[in-house]
Amino acid sequence: MPSLAVDDAVPDPALVVLVGPSGSGKSTWAVEGYRSQEIVSSDTLRGLVGSGSADLDATDDAFDLLERIVAARLGRGLTTVVDTLGTDQARRLRWRDLARQAGLPTAVVVLSTPVEECRRRNAARERPVPASVLTQQHARHRDVASRLPTEGWDVVLEVGAPVTPQAAEQRPEVERTERRSSQGLRIVLQLSRFPWGEEPAAWLRDVTLAADAAGLAGVALMDHLIQIPQVDRAWAPIPEPWVTLGLLAGLDTRLDLGTLVTPATFRPPGITAKAAATLSALSGGRAFVGVGAGWWEREHLGHGLPFPSAQERLDQLERGIETMRALWAAGTKAHSGPRLELPETTSYPRPVGEIPIIVGGSGRRSLRIAATLGDAANVPSTLPRLGEHLETLRSHNADVVVTVLDLPTIGRDRDDTWSRVERLRGRSQAAAFAARTNAGTPAQQRDRYGALADRGVDTVFVALADLEGPDDLERLEPLAR
Ligand code: GDP
Ligand code: MG
Repeated sequence: MPSLAVDDAVPDPALVVLVGPSGSGKSTWAVEGYRSQEIVSSDTLRGLVGSGSADLDATDDAFDLLERIVAARLGRGLTTVVDTLGTDQARRLRWRDLARQAGLPTAVVVLSTPVEECRRRNAARERPVPASVLTQQHARHRDVASRLPTEGWDVVLEVGAPVTPQAAEQRPEVERTERRSSQGLRIVLQLSRFPWGEEPAAWLRDVTLAADAAGLAGVALMDHLIQIPQVDRAWAPIPEPWVTLGLLAGLDTRLDLGTLVTPATFRPPGITAKAAATLSALSGGRAFVGVGAGWWEREHLGHGLPFPSAQERLDQLERGIETMRALWAAGTKAHSGPRLELPETTSYPRPVGEIPIIVGGSGRRSLRIAATLGDAANVPSTLPRLGEHLETLRSHNADVVVTVLDLPTIGRDRDDTWSRVERLRGRSQAAAFAARTNAGTPAQQRDRYGALADRGVDTVFVALADLEGPDDLERLEPLAR
């Protein structure tokens, strides 16, 4: 009999399997309720057969011993508390079966301590687990915890913050305080031009850090294989977004990072799912995916990619969304959905929290896809079409989250605004160009953004046609406030 107080919810004697990331408090929970002889800990066994409890080279030997000790104790009907990460399902089920053979009840104790708390405790340890490993442990933990209720345990006890689906959904908000302006908008910089001179990485870093300092909520990269004529010359650089986002993820910012938008025609959706999940893991859950059907034939032909009919591209978009969601969902089971079958959905690393899918496009079918399959829609901010788009989107889904792409001309003051209009207008007439790009000061843009917020717009992706470098982000700061 245990000498200490076993949690009332756990039978005694019993097999007790702990499940939780490093630092979640497994060992602490165990010693508070059980005698040391009853606790079989992989860390302790690493210390016995290796150089110390963190000696990963000793893992195989430690687990050989652990299996033998667990089997021997359970064979005698003795209470056995197994203190490992608990993520290996095959081992878990083997212990469960051994306990059943011995007539012992079985319990799993799940420690879902929030990741931030685990990080704090981990940092205080003599041999901390690397941060990336901890991130992976937490992603894996949510996956494992969601499976436990159907694994046939007599008791599943959650200690600390429980991992219910709701809690998992709320997590990103708890962890990542959303940046919204006082008008209630998320303002995200959309990067479409890259006048980075001789130093691409330094330019990207400085612009991104400036966006963070200006209080923006994120950075989105346009995805084209050739720079589009609306933005710049064909020989202007337009970098591959996922590689570029990897660089941005390594900067110390709170910015959400993603594409706006990536054409479904460029990459098989499983590869986009993999890239976004990797970005999510590397950035601590800040990834999003903007997707669209693709529209520019030239870049496809020039890169050896098929450019099928609009209908087929929209089919690809729908299949792509289903594929990504299947691969990001918990577990590895086969997927059978309305548009596709996958024999398995094994894809690691798992995303940290949810990866929002923002569907761009303003055709009728794009809008329907956005409203019914996306987490958000992205449409141009320009009036009066915006009103029509909102109406169409809401006819499909009253609660659709709406984001807009805004391409304003912003000057510091009236003079600066008009000199920018003069520089940017090309062959357009000045007045027409100013009207089309809503030319104005930050204060005027703010009034306009207030009107967008009143229409229920959630996020403004803002691109500056004359973005040259980090100093230009100052003009966006009043909008993010
Ligand atoms: P394990 O890696 O899951 O076995 O985690 P431990 O049980 O070794 O706990 C990691 C660290 O967190 C240790 O320094 C513990 O003292 C501390 N800890 C564990 N549980 C709690 C708790 O409930 N509250 C607080 N404040 N600290 C705890
Ligand atoms: Mg421990």
